[in-house]
Amino acid sequence: MSNADLLFRSRQAVWHPCTQMKRHERLPLVPLARGEGVWLYDHDGNRYLDGISSWWVNLFGHGEPRIKAAIKAQLDTLEHAMLAGFTHRPVVELSERLAARTGLGHAFYASDGASATEIALKMSVHYWRNSGQPDKHRFVHLQGGYHGETAGALAVTDVPLFRAAYAPLLRDNLQAPSPDWRAAQPGETPEQVAERAAEGLARLLAEHAPRIAALILEPLVQGAAGMAMHHPSYLARVRALCDRHQVHLIADEIAVGFGRTGTFLACEQGSIRPDFVCLSKGITGGFLPLAAVLTTDAVYQAFYDDDAARGFLHSHSYSGNPLACAAALAVLDIFEQDDVLAANRERGARWHALFSPLASHPRVRHLRRTGMIWAFDVADAPAGFPGAFFQAALAKGVLLRPIGGTVYLMPPYTMRDDEARQLAQGALLALETALVDGAEEKDVVVA
Ligand SMILES: *Cc1c(COP(=O)(O)O)cnc(C)c1O
Repeated sequence: MSNADLLFRSRQAVWHPCTQMKRHERLPLVPLARGEGVWLYDHDGNRYLDGISSWWVNLFGHGEPRIKAAIKAQLDTLEHAMLAGFTHRPVVELSERLAARTGLGHAFYASDGASATEIALKMSVHYWRNSGQPDKHRFVHLQGGYHGETAGALAVTDVPLFRAAYAPLLRDNLQAPSPDWRAAQPGETPEQVAERAAEGLARLLAEHAPRIAALILEPLVQGAAGMAMHHPSYLARVRALCDRHQVHLIADEIAVGFGRTGTFLACEQGSIRPDFVCLSKGITGGFLPLAAVLTTDAVYQAFYDDDAARGFLHSHSYSGNPLACAAALAVLDIFEQDDVLAANRERGARWHALFSPLASHPRVRHLRRTGMIWAFDVADAPAGFPGAFFQAALAKGVLLRPIGGTVYLMPPYTMRDDEARQLAQGALLALETALVDGAEEKDVVVA
């Protein structure tokens, strides 16, 4: 199959996500033939260094042999069975091991992140209803928060471009200030910014708590907002406020879980246990769609009853799919076998030394890092900057997709140091090109 043939057929038959399809009249899709390690290859043998782990999911790059082998082994016994009325070893083991990792002993499964958000929101509201407080059904989210794009998840997402067209579908929630440390006033530390944001939240809860079911946030790094980072002290303040006001805390760890911020869960850095944790993205290392929502005994017990209507009557056809669970178990094995968190501490420090020189570019602001996430903002980025940067980086053999004027690096954990050096060089060259081309580029790449 040729590149050109695939491009044409894809434009005819495939509606690509998060894309104004008309842009592909001028800018070609990248037709992939295969992936190996941190590289994606097209049909002509060109290769691209996957600097963003393919939208943050391929933790160990492409084709990781242990995950592949686990899926193949599972394929020989049970590929799928409905999870209502049935169970199987992969889903039981995964639930036990995620419980040990999170301190939350009850796991509910779906197939993607947005569904995990929907589940956590619905469970919270239903918990309060079962507990005799049906008026607690509103949600608080943070300024700049992102939790997925189905109607319920979009309603707790603060990205105007994604929301505007669907405003009539979205219920009215409450928004708390972002603890993003870039909002620091002169002399203010990230911890003080976090404190100021927590005070804003405290006022909101003081006024509305009797009607609020839950607060949902992305701990430590608000990804889609442009890798907005905050001080871990914010998490402890939020936990205390939620306790005081009887509001659930939902930690959306879909992007930041599985070691991305340096700890297995980002919440660990605030020494807190949320009432719900949402996991997806890295959970299968990019092999199969899977999401899990984990929650407390207290929540679980509020549903446990002779009355069916008090149960959580929510389902997805592929809930707890054995192949996906086997992939997730292999990912957890890799965390243990390779001591991934410890290895990442050293890798992260070495890569930070390689990425830091980007800060000396005159247009670069706020070069920042949390664990294995790096980001910087481009001062006065022209309107077409993200699209122009994406194209320029591809031309250098590097896959990076800025969010507005923010460039971020979220590499597979398995990238070698010489590849990290290539990534930094590619980013710098793409930056120079995009500052010029971006002024002419009219199409917008949004994420
Ligand atoms: C990606 C993401 C989601 C949505 O996950 P999908 O699998 O794309 O539906 C939700 N929350 C956060 C923080 C995310 O990064």
